[in-house]
Amino acid sequence: MSMKRPRPARSSPRRAAWQGAHWVRASTRLAIYLRDGLACLWCGRALEDGVALSLDHLVAVAEGGSHAPANLVTCCQPCNLTRGATSRDEWCRRLGGDVAERVPVHIARDLAPYRVRALQIQRERPEWLLALRRRSSTVGGIRAGR
Ligand SMILES: [Zn+2]
Repeated sequence: MSMKRPRPARSSPRRAAWQGAHWVRASTRLAIYLRDGLACLWCGRALEDGVALSLDHLVAVAEGGSHAPANLVTCCQPCNLTRGATSRDEWCRRLGGDVAERVPVHIARDLAPYRVRALQIQRERPEWLLALRRRSSTVGGIRAGR
């Protein structure tokens, strides 16, 4: 995979159309999953619980949110679908509990060590990245390290 693929500039009008599976590097995606303990920030479910992980924008791209890690949290696919276009505040209200307090804690974590780990996994365990996209309980060997 080439690392030279051009990315739209921050202010580019093309940026909004830059969607699909490749809007974020695989290693960044994995680093955010690791940062969040490989579990959905909203409901706590993990791969072992039979859900696929995804990234959820705290502020939707359509509302001006960026693809920066501070705007992204680990989210299971069911929660992602259920939340839809619901705002972060409204969604946290709906979920209740301490979720509203947990979000800033997660996004404030320094991503650098998780990036190092993600790149290491990408090199040594590429099958792991593929497994993250599947609903699978067979993925093992890497603990979240919370
Ligand atoms: Zn969830």
